[in-house]
Parts: sequence; structure tokens; C-alpha cells
Amino acid sequence: MTTNQGIIYVVATCIGNLEDITFRAVKVLKSVDLILCEDTRNSLKLLNHYNIDHKKLLSYHKFNEKSRLEYIKNLLLNENKNIALISDAGTPCIQDPGRVLINELTLNTNIKIVPIPGACAFITLLCATFKIGEDFIFLGFPPKTFEQQKKLFLKNNLADIIFYESNSRILKTLENILNIFGPNILISVGRELTKIYEEIKFDKVINIIDFYKTNTPKGEFVVVIHKENKQNIPFDEDILIKIQNLKDKGFSKKDIINILVALYGFNKNDIYNKI
Ligand code: SAM
Repeated sequence: MTTNQGIIYVVATCIGNLEDITFRAVKVLKSVDLILCEDTRNSLKLLNHYNIDHKKLLSYHKFNEKSRLEYIKNLLLNENKNIALISDAGTPCIQDPGRVLINELTLNTNIKIVPIPGACAFITLLCATFKIGEDFIFLGFPPKTFEQQKKLFLKNNLADIIFYESNSRILKTLENILNIFGPNILISVGRELTKIYEEIKFDKVINIIDFYKTNTPKGEFVVVIHKENKQNIPFDEDILIKIQNLKDKGFSKKDIINILVALYGFNKNDIYNKI
């Protein structure tokens, strides 16, 4: 790296509670020449809280992240500017803008990229609810239709599945989970994490649906589908076709069961009579 290049800091900020930001993050935000943020009005609250100069803010969101790319690269490469990237909540690039810039800097420049770690909504829920084992898969925001969700959730069935959902879609998505995995599947729901009305629930999906039918879902949500009791998963069309193909190729019942267990995480005893 030559000395006339700036540094980009990828700075995690809070997911609701303004105090969930590190000392290092505040120090970096005070020191940089420019702060790229999603929504200047939103980031002003944070900057005012920590007495950080708001004149350094420049909006950088999903609608201008490509058009601003050359300008930002030039500031870093030729004008020796140090820049911080933040988003409206939590960690930039995690379901938030920044990926286009960080990919470009990684692939095509030798600009130094410095992560300043901090809050992230799905990690916040994962550390405060039921969990067996270490594996999980994070899916961001899931697709909207039942068929798309079913395909995605069954494909990722070997680990706990964690995703973000909006308050307007949460009930529909929970009903889809019930229809895919049955009423007894265990899930966790984190609502308004770190905020005044923070709520963390761990229960069968059917009970959580009942709860949100009588308590209108408000605020922001993270959901975990726990892998531990997915025994009652119905075989869908794709799986039935795969079973028939394996039978046609002469695989034994035992082999087919082992393949399905490895691929989908089924419990052996639960699928024995279905093949
Ligand atoms: N970059 C963020 C992160 O690090 O988690 C995520 C940004 S994404 C656009 C926003 C989504 O994250 C929300 O719709 C919600 O699903 C989830 N989320 C963010 N803050 C949350 C909170 N305090 N409680 C629950 N979910 C939250």
C-alpha cells in the first residue's frame, strides 16, 4: 500500500440501543474525514449522541452505491481520505449497503479495509436463546411465497435456520413454517432486540402464532427455526422423486435412508416406514 491512500473502516453501530457501540467505533467515527451512511437523518441521532461532527455524513444507500463508487474510490486512492462506512442498524454489508464498495475495493484495489466489529441482530438473538451445537445458516430476508420458502428452508435443513422478517410478513412466514415443518417445530423469535420492548420467545411455532394473533406484531424481527425436532417434515415432491430415482438405481432401503438423513437431517426412525 502506498502512503497516499486512505483507509476504509467498516463500522458496526447499534441495532436500537444507542449505547451498543464500541469505544473504538466512536473514536474512529470522530477521526475519519467522511462517514458513509444509509440515511443521514437516522445517523444524525447517533452522531449527536456521541458529539461527532455531522458535516462528515454522506448518504450511501442501495440506490446510489454504484454511482458513488468512483467518487469514493478516488477519495481513498488519490486524496488520502479516511472513510467510515456505517448503516442504519448493526453491521454494514449484513443485509445492508456496503457490499458493492467492499467487493470493489477487495477485488480491484489494495486499499486497507479495517472492520470495527459490534452489534448484529441475528448474532444478538443467537446468543440469547436455545441452541444445540454450533452450526447455523443465516438467510437474510427469505423470499415471500410459500413455495420459495419451503424450497429454501428444506434445502438448509441440516442446521438451525436464522433469518430476518418484517412485522407485516412475520405471521404469514410463521404459518408457512407450520405448514412445512408441522405445528411442533421449535422456533425462537427476537423482537425489538436491545430496545425498550425487547421480547425473546422460544416455543413451538403454533404457540408463537397464537401469541402474535392476539398481540399485533410490531417492530423488527429475527427468527430461528431449530433443527432439533424436524422429524415430522412431510416429504415434498422433490424428495419423493429423489427416492424413486435411488430405488430405480438399485439402492437398498438402508442406503436411501442414510442418504436422506445426510441430505436433509431427518431422523432415521421417522422415515423408516415412509420408504
Ligand atoms: N445490518 C443489520 C444487522 O447487522 O443485523 C441488519 C439490517 S436489516 C436491513 C434490518 C433487519 O434486521 C430488520 O428488518 C430486522 O429483521 C433485523 N433487525 C435489525 N435490528 C433489529 C432489532 N433490534 N431487533 C430485531 N431484529 C432486528
